[in-house]
Amino acid sequence: MSAGFEEICDRVAVNLKAVNQEISEACDAAERDRSAVKLVAVTKYAEWDWVRALSREHAVFGENRPQQLAERAVLDELSQPAEWHLIGQLQRNKARSAVQHASLIHSVDSLRLLQRLSSVAGDLNVEQRLLLQVNVTGEESKSGFSPDGLRQGIDEILQVPSVHLDGLMTMAPAGATDEETYACFSGLRDLRDEIRESSAAKEVGHSFSELSMGMSGDFPTAIRAGATIVRIGRRLYDGL
Ligand SMILES: *Cc1c(COP(=O)(O)O)cnc(C)c1O
Repeated sequence: MSAGFEEICDRVAVNLKAVNQEISEACDAAERDRSAVKLVAVTKYAEWDWVRALSREHAVFGENRPQQLAERAVLDELSQPAEWHLIGQLQRNKARSAVQHASLIHSVDSLRLLQRLSSVAGDLNVEQRLLLQVNVTGEESKSGFSPDGLRQGIDEILQVPSVHLDGLMTMAPAGATDEETYACFSGLRDLRDEIRESSAAKEVGHSFSELSMGMSGDFPTAIRAGATIVRIGRRLYDGL
């Protein structure tokens, strides 16, 4: 039997509180300010009622499929206006829909996709905020810029119009130890620092302030390594 709506609200409120508490603890341990870390509530496996329940207390959501993001972002049934982020792989033919509905796109994994997003954003007369996805550990199965590919392409990337590069995103390898995960996340931070400090990035006005890393299983490690955005799904739906 599925739970009634009030029961769902109680459950996600408890889960959200626990996650926020753990984010605060990880910030304290790393001597970082709690306000420096933003939680994106990942809703890819969530039923719409669960999203509605979350929206009583939270307003930033992440979807990994452009189609589901487009469908949900236009529904006017949440308790407060929400911000929708696209966190999953994006095909170029879905770029327009992504620009129309996502306030931040985390998963820009190639120069061709970046150029497509730029052209769509130009058409729509907006500046699209986005993150470049980096495959820090070089796993075959993952998309994203390699660190060296990003270094080599950065001058061209920085010149792409109608986009604002907020920073970088990565995922740790599945099954990695805590130490390996930390190395992956620190690698992303170092790469971000290197790009941000380059004079080219400063001239063009991209902030490179964000590091989107950390999910249900590894967000405390990500915060220790400098994450400014954590993307958490499963933990919010415990018990549902
Ligand atoms: C699903 C997903 C998450 C959230 O993962 P959980 O393990 O459910 O917290 C974060 N980032 C991306 C890119 C995802 O696809």
